Amino acid sequence: MAEHYKPVKYKAWELTLEERFQEYYPPLSEREAVLEANRCLYCHDAPCMVACPTHIDIPTFIRKIATGNTKGSARTILEANLLGATCSRVCPVEELCEGACVMRHDHKPITIGRLQRYAMDYAQEKKIKFFEAGKPNGFKVAVVGTGPAGLSCAGELAKLGFDVTCFEKKKMAGGLSTYGIVVFREPVEVSLAEVKNIEDLGVKIKTECTIGEDIKFEELIENYDAVFFGVGLGSVPDLAVPGEDLEGVVDGLDFIEATKVDKLDSIKFGNRIAVIGAGNTGIDCATIARRLGAERVTIVYRRSEAEMPAYHFEYQFALGEGVSFMFLTQPVEIVGKDGKVEGLKCLRMDLGEPDHSGRRMPVPAKGSEFVIPCDMVIKAIGQKKHTDLLGKLAEFGVKSTKNGYIAVADDTKRSDHPKIFAGGDCIRSKGEASTVAAVQDGKVAAAAIYRQLVGAPSPNEKHIEPVLSPVK
Ligand SMILES: Cc1cc2nc3c(=O)[nH]c(=O)nc-3n(C[C@H](O)[C@H](O)[C@H](O)COP(=O)(O)OP(=O)(O)OC[C@H]3O[C@@H](n4cnc5c(N)ncnc54)[C@H](O)[C@@H]3O)c2cc1C
Ligand code: SF4
Repeated sequence: MAEHYKPVKYKAWELTLEERFQEYYPPLSEREAVLEANRCLYCHDAPCMVACPTHIDIPTFIRKIATGNTKGSARTILEANLLGATCSRVCPVEELCEGACVMRHDHKPITIGRLQRYAMDYAQEKKIKFFEAGKPNGFKVAVVGTGPAGLSCAGELAKLGFDVTCFEKKKMAGGLSTYGIVVFREPVEVSLAEVKNIEDLGVKIKTECTIGEDIKFEELIENYDAVFFGVGLGSVPDLAVPGEDLEGVVDGLDFIEATKVDKLDSIKFGNRIAVIGAGNTGIDCATIARRLGAERVTIVYRRSEAEMPAYHFEYQFALGEGVSFMFLTQPVEIVGKDGKVEGLKCLRMDLGEPDHSGRRMPVPAKGSEFVIPCDMVIKAIGQKKHTDLLGKLAEFGVKSTKNGYIAVADDTKRSDHPKIFAGGDCIRSKGEASTVAAVQDGKVAAAAIYRQLVGAPSPNEKHIEPVLSPVK
């Protein structure tokens, strides 16, 4: 792990609750940013740029910071990625751009994420508007969902002159950037400022409007020239073990959402918490619980450390926050007394043969049952698929993948229905779901919609790979 990614050490008792939920990486000062930018070698065929799913011209934006042109730097970032402020905070940079940086071998990699945040914060503070709505081309596009995929698609289309309306079922737009990413990684204001930037391009956003309930699918397909689905995934699935209805059992996404939208001192939490699942959600719930003040937080995961979905740096971060891990442990029952959680009954597991994902299957060890005493259980075992939506889309001839995602062509994000496109978590049947991948999907779909409706290559295709098929 790169040295600069060591978690910030803090002594909880020295900080107020609010301070514990501040962004944990402080912004770079101008001097720090310029010094760091000057370490960059401005590589030809820069590997960092190849590794960025949105292909931001990283050497160029860094060089602009080094020469004092921070405004120009922000423009370079936003040309490739309209959600540059979110991505600078949430991207797993050590797996992407910084992991590919040539400087990682002998020195430490350039802190690309923090430099990007420096340029994005500068543009936001100065309220600089880089783009305008394109000249109207007469086409109307509906975007369902305003997470990174939907916003990216909507913004790119608006720049190209499309009349875009987004429909969002939640009260605020932004998807998981607003409601799901822990506040000390991305404050809500950062996500909402990006939503505002997209609206400033002329995109209309209708919140608290669920497609399939408030507006029928048929209406969208009929009234718009193209429809983009960026609906993400659903709530955390049930554990399907006895005791799930006890007081003190909570959905991990609801728990995170509370820390983003509610007053911190109004959030209920236990003192000894078992978090089930070792992915993004599990790690975030566990670290939040510690920062709220829970004494003992244990992540329970049925496979081993090697198979856990969380990134290595997230694991290290959680350990640094005092979270414990119990690997090869399968919950079988939530034990309660007087209707409240009292413990989590588990079995020890051994690793058996690989399953369809290639990971070794956990198998229960006989007679290994034991109980972890706890007063709260947080469910964090992934997100449900939108089965109802897939069923509805199937009526329009849209296929879904075997594992429950919308099936689209890689190079256009178009489904089997010529008007229906999709991107983000709802199509990610393989590979890791991430914000930056969702942003790129939205951009690819916008370029494909342009080609399909306008009949010419989109001006933004230079940032897109794989290159779109020729216009037919
Ligand atoms: C806890 C957690 C932490 C994460 N941390 C990171 C991280 O650190 N880094 C990273 O890169 N990725 C992270 N991710 C993943 C990342 O957040 C997602 O990959 C990304 O948000 C996907 O974007 P999206 O636009 O596809 O979906 P979402 O962000 O889920 O947005 C989908 C939107 O569609 C709306 N919607 C759904 N159905 C309808 C409907 N019928 N009508 C209208 N609106 C609808 C939803 O309300 C939502 O706003 C995390 C995910 C979770 C759950
Ligand atoms: S690989 Fe590293 S040194 Fe080279 S351009 Fe990218 S950030 Fe700069």
